[in-house]
Amino acid sequence: MLFGAAAGAFLPRIGYRLTVPYGSPARTGCHRCGRPFPPGPAGWIHAGAACCTGGRWPVVTSALAAGLLAAALGPVPQLPVHLLAVIPGLLLAMIDLGCQRLPDRLVGTLALVGGIPLALIAPDRIVPAVFAGLLVGATYLAIALLPGQGLGLGDVKLGAALAFLLGFAGWPAVAVGLGTAHLLNGAIATWLLVTRQARPIPFGPALLAGACTALTTV
Ligand SMILES: [Zn+2]
Repeated sequence: MLFGAAAGAFLPRIGYRLTVPYGSPARTGCHRCGRPFPPGPAGWIHAGAACCTGGRWPVVTSALAAGLLAAALGPVPQLPVHLLAVIPGLLLAMIDLGCQRLPDRLVGTLALVGGIPLALIAPDRIVPAVFAGLLVGATYLAIALLPGQGLGLGDVKLGAALAFLLGFAGWPAVAVGLGTAHLLNGAIATWLLVTRQARPIPFGPALLAGACTALTTV
């Protein structure tokens, strides 16, 4: 939990700078007060809110996710891997909420940061994990190619990456993770329909919340 809060404290600035439309460079300053961020790493490494804008919810979410994972998993070798994966995961959620985008490099980072150590810890799970990733990736790709489904290619890649990571925990984890994501998404869609708000729903945060639920409950 302390790890989560400490890591999460640095996320608002990074997430804010990366919340830009596809193909645009990262933000070089605050769009509200106009203050530029320092060049180089100093502009990225900053604890607390991004600037005068951007909330501190990533810090709370990160601490909560880390606390839940630690409490549910106990001192297993996989715990530090999942705690580390919370960082790219939360960044992806922030960026997807902000601008409906899931940068490939971050999804790749999540898959590698989680996948490599998990494969070293449990080599016998590599084949089912890869198979889960391919299966979910192919299914989501087929859905994304249908017109009017609202599933983006970023969602396809993130879904495949998370299914791959959850595959190391077993098929029930994959099923609970994706099932929770779709339930969450359905609940949000229903809420928007009831309150008559028409806006796109990013699927990334639901996928990530589902994966976290699967790891803590299965
Ligand atoms: Zn500012």
